[in-house]
Amino acid sequence: MASESDLHDHHTGVRSAYKHVVRRNPYEPEFQQAVLEVLDNLSPALTRHPEYDDQRILQRLCEPERQVMFRVPWRDDNGNVHVNRGFRVQFNSALGPYKGGLRFHPSVNLGVIKFLGFEQIFKNALTGMSIGGAKGGSDFDPKGRSDNEIERFCQSFMTELHQHLGEHTDVPAGDIGVGAREIGYMFGQYRRLANRWEAGVMTGKGLDWGGSRVRTEATGYGTVLFTQRMLERNGKDLDGRRVVVSGAGNVALYSIERAQQLGANVVACSDSNGYVVDDKGLDLDLLKQVKEVERAGIDVYAERRGQSAHYVRGAGVWEVPCDVALPSATQNELDAKAARTLIDNGVIAVAEGANMPTTPEATSLLRRAGVLFGPGKAANAGGVATSVLEMRQNARRTSWSFDHAEQELAETMAGIHDRCEEAAERYGCPGDYVLGANVAGFERVGNAMLAQGLV
Ligand code: GLU
Repeated sequence: MASESDLHDHHTGVRSAYKHVVRRNPYEPEFQQAVLEVLDNLSPALTRHPEYDDQRILQRLCEPERQVMFRVPWRDDNGNVHVNRGFRVQFNSALGPYKGGLRFHPSVNLGVIKFLGFEQIFKNALTGMSIGGAKGGSDFDPKGRSDNEIERFCQSFMTELHQHLGEHTDVPAGDIGVGAREIGYMFGQYRRLANRWEAGVMTGKGLDWGGSRVRTEATGYGTVLFTQRMLERNGKDLDGRRVVVSGAGNVALYSIERAQQLGANVVACSDSNGYVVDDKGLDLDLLKQVKEVERAGIDVYAERRGQSAHYVRGAGVWEVPCDVALPSATQNELDAKAARTLIDNGVIAVAEGANMPTTPEATSLLRRAGVLFGPGKAANAGGVATSVLEMRQNARRTSWSFDHAEQELAETMAGIHDRCEEAAERYGCPGDYVLGANVAGFERVGNAMLAQGLV
């Protein structure tokens, strides 16, 4: 768990804000960690702009504007009733309507949703677009549930949530455990309850009913585009590099796809039970068939792929030697031990496809070893940015081609990269994307909060 002694920053405003967060949010280690990671980089900005401290911008930022917690009752296929807990934390709307995904996973609790919502504020600010930060979800476990059970759960969840949403108020999307199928059931229930065909109220919709091309691919593609730009700034690129990706969900699959398109050899990915190494390079069509169509584990991939692949149960994917590592599964999946292994194996770049996948200790080891490090709030912002592209198409009742949407994503990722780079340089730490992302995101939200008075 993070504690006050982990704070390297000696700015008094930062220290007192963090102390306050720890005292007011006990038993929420992930939230405390996410706050620590941002605040720890802010003292140069606060020293330069005392008005942030005068107006208590840090304290205001760390307190969600609104938090909704609710009961989600649903009936399984055998007629048994279950009760889950639903959440929506509407963290900050200084830059636009609340925006952020919904996560369905047994590990979800209020602290996890608050950490994700807090991250989302800065991520969304970094896109340069007009969106605030939020996150939601439930401790519901979709694993092994039938399609009918998923439908009933989603309808019950939205029966409560719908009254808190709206295209100008709060616009959810997917996250872990929530993909196109779940968005469909929730959008359907919203439409019925609100009596409005309000496309802009959710993103990640199907292509036939208001969705955007490239939204499915966007988080993974964006992470790789960000990585490529970081490498290019250092006279390198992805062509011919050995890449390891953790996870085998939406972010991982489309990171693999884009990295392969750029000439990388992606040799490993993982799921909650183990990892697969494939020295010839992963066969993406087979992987998609197993994960997206059959919803099976990657051990099935290894079985079908034959000789070049082998499956390792239980162990960590970071022991596979690589040049580039893309943690794309979940929070705190890359710890100090894994970071040391990656460094010993000569890793040159790490970019976070997931939200906060690297522990604070691992992040500082990688940064100190001179590894290029793309923090999640910048590297994986392509997903939410493409959600805004979807909202733009909805508002104009139009639909773009794949090429057009992909071009917009590429320009957005370049902008995010350059905003981090520029802020890092301005504060005397060139190449430090962690500092750059936190400061650039903070300045944009902080300035909007200052301009809008005490809200
Ligand atoms: N859940 C995604 C994220 O972590 C996407 C959010 C969205 O599109 O609103 O950024």
